[in-house]
Amino acid sequence: MPYVGRFAPSPTGPLHIGSLTTAVASYLHAKKAKGEWLLRIDDIDQPREKKGAADSIRKTLNAFQLEWDRDVFYQSSDMEKYHEVAEKLVTFGHAFKCSCTRKELQKTGKRNVLGIKYPGECRTRINHYKPTAIRVLVESDELIFIDALQGKQINNLSHLTGDYVIIRSDKLPSYNLSTVLDDSYQGVTHIVRGIDLLELTSIHIHLQRILGIKTPNYLHLPIIVNANDQKLSKQTGAPAIISTNVNKTALIILSYLGLQTPNELMGSTPSELWAWAIQNWDPNNLANQRTIKTLQV
Ligand code: GLU
Repeated sequence: MPYVGRFAPSPTGPLHIGSLTTAVASYLHAKKAKGEWLLRIDDIDQPREKKGAADSIRKTLNAFQLEWDRDVFYQSSDMEKYHEVAEKLVTFGHAFKCSCTRKELQKTGKRNVLGIKYPGECRTRINHYKPTAIRVLVESDELIFIDALQGKQINNLSHLTGDYVIIRSDKLPSYNLSTVLDDSYQGVTHIVRGIDLLELTSIHIHLQRILGIKTPNYLHLPIIVNANDQKLSKQTGAPAIISTNVNKTALIILSYLGLQTPNELMGSTPSELWAWAIQNWDPNNLANQRTIKTLQV
């Protein structure tokens, strides 16, 4: 079976050691399977985007000699298709318009790990006097899938999220819709990403089933956390990768990924290190752990 993998960063800031580690893992996994590895820039959320971040991400990947196959795909290049699919889902009764505001939901909706569980107010509402979002109706069935590293996952979207948003009230498509459509559009067969997205994967599979899209293979990696057990991110103050000491950083990334590089490779370039790592990559080295503590670099 052909393998198509991808790295899909949102350009909200430069890469840090956590996001670069995800990039490397998805690259090693694809190359070990002799597959393609694509770069997609998830730039649908323009208000959160940081100017210059997409360029900086590409430059960092270049500095680390991580070469993507095909042209970079920018989600913002075809915003229409997300709206077309969402409207079709409304027409066919899988989704509905929703004019509940965040404030209203905070009053009536129950809090859960993914935010506020939608209580269902607009399922039957016909007249809307405020801007509308589009939500997908969820059933109360269990949704089961096997993650290649985390094993069997059983979720019930009616408990986890309730009817979930695919078009926000500011008319921007949600990450869940855009990622499902573009993974399918690009023929992605294998998705390797952080465990923080594991629960959202149930939404992705739910959407794929409604849309008649084949579900790709999923592998969710432990995420890198700081000394306070917080996921590395711009918000938690993770420093941007600087492309000066690339060899040392590449060695650290391989150690995060459970690969002990032999001494004779210590002075090697990143691409020499990746060539060795492709042979030795085994995601099972990361089994049974949800986080990896960052080293002080
Ligand atoms: N764009 C998302 C992010 O940067 C990840 C997308 C994905 O891997 O599905 O968090």
